[in-house]
Order: sequence, then structure tokens, then C-alpha cells
Amino acid sequence: MRLMDAQKPLIIAGPCSVESREQLNAVVSSLAQMPQVSMVRCGVWKPRTRPGGFEGLGEKALRWIADLSKELKDEGCRSLPFACEVATPQHVEQVMRYGLKAVWIGARTTANPFMVQELTEAMRGTGLMVLVKNAPSPDVRLWMGAIERCWQVGLTDVTAVHRGFDVLKNGGYRNHPLWEVPIELRRAMPKVPIVTDPSHIAGRRELLQEVSQWALDLGFDGLMVEVHPNPEEALTDSRQQITPDGLRELLEDLVLRQTDSGMADRDLSMLRSQIDRIDDQLLRLLSARLEVSGEIARVKAQDNLAVFQPKRWDSLLQQRLAMATELRLEPEFVKEVFEKIHAESVRVQQQRLSGGEEPPVPQDKTE
Ligand code: PEP
Ligand code: MN
Repeated sequence: MRLMDAQKPLIIAGPCSVESREQLNAVVSSLAQMPQVSMVRCGVWKPRTRPGGFEGLGEKALRWIADLSKELKDEGCRSLPFACEVATPQHVEQVMRYGLKAVWIGARTTANPFMVQELTEAMRGTGLMVLVKNAPSPDVRLWMGAIERCWQVGLTDVTAVHRGFDVLKNGGYRNHPLWEVPIELRRAMPKVPIVTDPSHIAGRRELLQEVSQWALDLGFDGLMVEVHPNPEEALTDSRQQITPDGLRELLEDLVLRQTDSGMADRDLSMLRSQIDRIDDQLLRLLSARLEVSGEIARVKAQDNLAVFQPKRWDSLLQQRLAMATELRLEPEFVKEVFEKIHAESVRVQQQRLSGGEEPPVPQDKTE
């Protein structure tokens, strides 16, 4: 089965880490009863931020996985492909030795192009399905780079896993979802399926449903969820894992959206043309605002005033935020919009003051 051709939404589930034969058997036999589940995830080598914690059982766990797959087959059970994280060429070699069909590249590996290169070279010719997690920093190009490195060695079944980002203001998540980043990936690589990992985004069970629903509402292709027979006792990520029953409930409560709008097309096109008109007005207003801003630059130049006037900016922002509250707009959102508008206004004024010369183009980040 190619991941890309699997039913939608694609559900990948399983423990953060393989901890014992019993734990693996318990969770996999429950997942095998759920037809929505297409693949088992189970960590075998665990990247720990600091040494000394449980680092996974390695080859021993791979042996259990191979034995269990065979037992399930012999019992005539539905066969589920297994995936585990690989971080070194040796991991790839062992995974192949034990017959796994899929692997994932972890977030911290995606962040390092040298490691991704070594890893993908080791996967050349293996035909493995590869799940590529986003790097912890919200730079979509690192994510794209890792996917491209897979393609370069001839791996064609590549899926992106959105596991959230390590940012300063994490908004109560373990890793902020920053939905705009996977949306950017979708735009840049429309054929690459995107699976959201609500477990590592949320960091706690209570948030899983909400994050999973958002992913499906955005038209993403599936979910990767951590499932453990006894989450409280889990050796890694115990706050975010759910039981197999918890997964069943989560999947039952999810509302699936159609990506093909069918009957709703007419209503949608009316609403979309309304949005188009509003955007048209927004852009014209922005253009008019910047014109006035340019005029202000002229006056400031005459009076030898600095472009940036902090008092004016503070009072302007306070007024806009008060209005945002009246209009029931999210103040944080309005603040960000006005910060952007103000920055552009300052740039335009500086340009005018320097005699119309082009301001320095912001440098692209290191390639
Ligand atoms: C995991 O999936 O258990 C894991 C370690 O994930 P990430 O690489 O996203 O942190
Ligand atoms: Mn985990």
C-alpha cells in the first residue's frame, strides 16, 4: 500500500516508544481492530533532549515488531505496516533487516541537512515509505529540503508530518501548530500528503481533539496519534498519549470535511466573490494609507522630525485595539496587522526621506 493512495483521512497510531513486548502486543492488537488505522507508529530509538532518560530498546524492539507482524499474519489478522524513527544510516540498515516498510525522519533530524543527506543516501533503493516531520524551527524550507533529499535518492512515497514548532510564545501548546507553515508547504508542494501529529503539538491529551479537527478542517490528509495501553505509566510522552479507546472516541467525534465541495459549490462561490470584493477594498485602502504616509514624510522632512514617533505609535495602537474589541476582533491579531502596516509605513517614509532611493532589500536567511 502506498501511503499516498490510502483512504482519507490517513490514520497512523501507536505508542511514542516500544517499552515491552506486552505493551506492543496490547496496543497493536487493539489498533488492528480499528479499520480507520492504516499504519502503526512506534519509536525504537528515542531522541532525548538530555541524556539519562529512556532512549528506546533498539534492535530488541525491532525483533518484537517482526515477530508480531508474523503472528498477526499467521492468525489471519489485518496486516498493518509499522513505522519507526530513523536517525542514522545504521538505523536504516536495522529497519531493513527486520522488514519494516516505513520510517520517519524526526523533527530534530530534519533541522540538520547533513544528517538528512546521510540518512536519505542510506535509504536509496530501499523503497521505504518516508514520513518527514517538520523541523522545530518554523522554516518551511528545511522541511521542503528534507522531502527533496528523499526524492533525490528515488524515494517516491514521501509524506510530511506536521508536529508543530518550537517558538517563544507557544500559546499553551507543547509545539505551536503555526498552521500557516504547513499551508505554505501545501502551496509549494501540492502533491505531498500532510499528516498532522496532534500529540506532539498538544503535549497533553485534552487538546488532541481540537488540534485534530483543525487539521481536517484545513483539508490535511490525516493524523499521527500516540496511543499507549496505559498512558499514565508511559516511559515517554505520558501526558499526551491516549488509550486505544481514547483513539476510537477521538476518531468518532471528528467531523470529516469534503475537499471537493460538490453541492456547496454555488453557495461557496457567492461567498468567495464577497471575499474577493472585500480584499479588493482592503488593498485599495492600504494603498491609500501608504500614500498619506508618504505625505507625512514630506512634512516631517520640512520640520526635521524623526520618522518613528513612539508616542504617536503607542496612542494609535491603543485606539485600534479599543476598536478591535468593539468589533469583536482578536486584539492579538489586530496588533500584528498594525505592526506590519506600521513597519511598511516607516519603510516608505524612510525611502522618501532618503530621496526616493530604494531601501535595502531584506536579506534572505542563510540557504
Ligand atoms: C516522536 O514522534 O515520538 C518524536 C520523537 O517526534 P518529534 O521528532 O516530532 O519530536
Ligand atoms: Mn513522542
